[in-house]
Amino acid sequence: MSDLRDRINALSPDDAVQMAERYGTHNYHPLPLNLVRVDGPYAYDKVGNQYIDCVGAYSAVAQGHLNEVVSDAMIEQLKIMGLVSRAVHTPELGYFLKTICEYTDLDMCCPMNTGAEAIETALKLARKWGYTVKGIPADKAEIIVATENFHGRTITIVGFSTEKQYQEGFGPFTPGFKVVPFGDIEAVRAAITPNTAAILMEPIQAEAGILFPPAGFMADLRAVCDENNVLLIWDEIQTGFGRTGKRFAWQHEDAKPDMMTLAKALGAGLYPVSAVVGRREVMEVFKPGDHGSTFGGNPIGAIVGIAAIEEMEREGLVDNSRAMGDRLKSEFLKFDDRVIEEVRGRGLLVGLEVHEGIDTKRLTAAFLENGVITKETRHRTFRFAPPLTVDESVVMEIVARVKRALDSVTATAGV
Ligand SMILES: *Cc1c(COP(=O)(O)O)cnc(C)c1O
Repeated sequence: MSDLRDRINALSPDDAVQMAERYGTHNYHPLPLNLVRVDGPYAYDKVGNQYIDCVGAYSAVAQGHLNEVVSDAMIEQLKIMGLVSRAVHTPELGYFLKTICEYTDLDMCCPMNTGAEAIETALKLARKWGYTVKGIPADKAEIIVATENFHGRTITIVGFSTEKQYQEGFGPFTPGFKVVPFGDIEAVRAAITPNTAAILMEPIQAEAGILFPPAGFMADLRAVCDENNVLLIWDEIQTGFGRTGKRFAWQHEDAKPDMMTLAKALGAGLYPVSAVVGRREVMEVFKPGDHGSTFGGNPIGAIVGIAAIEEMEREGLVDNSRAMGDRLKSEFLKFDDRVIEEVRGRGLLVGLEVHEGIDTKRLTAAFLENGVITKETRHRTFRFAPPLTVDESVVMEIVARVKRALDSVTATAGV
């Protein structure tokens, strides 16, 4: 083992916390858990406690922690070629672009690294399409977004967030965005003007608490966009790649977008890989110099992206997500309805909402004590988004552990 590895292994959980507190900005509030090893759906702390990872890095580890096929492809690539600039061609990038366009049935791709970058890229493409193709007057383009959206953390993106904390202290913000209530098609219609370039939404709002729009909304949105010559952009960064039991969540209503943003599972939990994929007419508005990223599309990211997609197909993870998600949801629905307000989900994106008055802090701790990593999103909803590789025995183990945790908290609370 390397000397660096020895030094890392020598650190105690307390050392890790103290260094993070002393040297890191405090923009997260982590669970009191120090992980040292992962494997498939499992994670382990230093004393060997095993946890089922139901946060799954917010869907980024869809293929399972340290997926062997993707890891091997990455390690192989690391011995051949790392970052070279976009000033040159590489076979890895070409093959990645072809693979992702074929998988999404869209025409062209702009590779980036993180989700927020993919969103920024899509916004730039939409604006430039608005000016150069649709004919919107200079600097007048409008983009419509939804309440309770989550698209990332850049200044522009938080500028159209409706979460107070995401904005406070960070203004002034980028103009040109209109917010309408999520799932309200009439509000969308009313917000459209001749200057509307695009509508950007999540098909299911994961960070907001796994919120679904009314049935038919996605299809209606597609129709409204067609009627008004407005681009439809789905943010599939969290819902994409099988998470909801289809390759992409828009497929539940056949509401094919003009562009979609992808990240998270595209990197298989190993490397940041993101992309905007879209129709040629939109994507080709970018000319050399319009946009770029030093690491975007590099050979390592490209190989990881290809292997991540191929692994999803090879292992049938989309179908498995649908089957295991149905199972998880039906078991959760058997829980005590004096504790559970609602179970919402599609595929392996399941939210367990507890009633007001249930101590969610204590419940989070109880989940951990019982070997389940999950965190509260908004609306008192706990997220269950394990890797899409879980089989029935892991699903039933999640159910058993969650039940024990719920029982331990509600027994003492006298529910
Ligand atoms: C995570 C997420 C993002 C942002 O991705 P980052 O890689 O964290 O920048 C954007 N949109 C959705 C729906 C997400 O879940």
